[in-house]
Amino acid sequence: MLPKIPICPTFVAEESLSSWIERTACFYGCDLERWIGQFSTELVSDGEPPVDLDLCDKVRLVVSTWSGIPLDKIPPLCDAARALPSFARLAFCEECWDADVRAGIQPYIRRHWLNWTTVHCAGHERYLSAKKRSVDAGASYVNWQEVWVSNPIWRNALQLQNRGAGAGSVWYQAPKQLPRCTQRLMHLLEQLADPADVLANKALGHVRETWRQRSEERIGYVGLPVLLENRIEVLRQAAALLTVSQ
Ligand SMILES: [Zn+2]
Repeated sequence: MLPKIPICPTFVAEESLSSWIERTACFYGCDLERWIGQFSTELVSDGEPPVDLDLCDKVRLVVSTWSGIPLDKIPPLCDAARALPSFARLAFCEECWDADVRAGIQPYIRRHWLNWTTVHCAGHERYLSAKKRSVDAGASYVNWQEVWVSNPIWRNALQLQNRGAGAGSVWYQAPKQLPRCTQRLMHLLEQLADPADVLANKALGHVRETWRQRSEERIGYVGLPVLLENRIEVLRQAAALLTVSQ
């Protein structure tokens, strides 16, 4: 039986469950992996693979029991039909995070950033950046603390010590040579994200398969940050399919 933890950050609308759990860990000066370790025996039995923090309803129940916070005050799960594989949920908008810090809150992960179809920030009209997976190679979960603390402004917001991480060395910005994220492309990407759109779902199925094959080929020697660029490219191809088929 876990002792109750006395206080947690309030979750922000649109925040992912893993983000809120990690912000709670940061609040107590802990990293995500060790934090999860404290209640992992409540989640998985010996020898089982780690649970997916953003797709497993049991995670919500366990953290609710642990914190005493009712379930309706805990972030919902993300959409399983749209979610990237957990190791590839690396995208974020740098400008959204700067805005978070200016507003005096910790940067946090928006749930839609975890989706296959999200490659740009509609608010800032720019492609998302991607965290370099190499920072925590071998870890079971994607850990954001290194990126959050790497910018001095974000580090101050977290009230964490300077751990010497160089700003920019732990994440990857979408290359400038990518075609502009135009209104038309943004519209097509939104269409791809609509679960009720049969055409879009067909195109998205094509995207996912292409992306999966490419990522399996490239993970070994190029590294995961390149996957964001791949994803932008295959989504552009799927968007072209949609245009042609209409
Ligand atoms: Zn943004």
